[in-house]
Amino acid sequence: MEIALVTFFVMLIAWTCYALSISQGSEEFLCGDCRFNDPEQCLKVERPRAILCTSYRDKQAPVSESEFKR
Ligand code: SF4
Repeated sequence: MEIALVTFFVMLIAWTCYALSISQGSEEFLCGDCRFNDPEQCLKVERPRAILCTSYRDKQAPVSESEFKR
């Protein structure tokens, strides 16, 4: 039983470290430094507290050519 508990906590810590290493953004929520963090540009219900978002774009990063075409 104790081995299972220790294994669980080790896996939990490893997963947390992995999630932090792949997370985007530098603030608590992605929207904090997203270029679309504006009610007129983003209608997602997650805004302004999105943790995961496929539309996230770093406002410090240059705008890519494919974004200009939209
Ligand atoms: S696109 Fe995603 S990360 Fe950006 S403001 Fe909207 S919900 Fe937040």
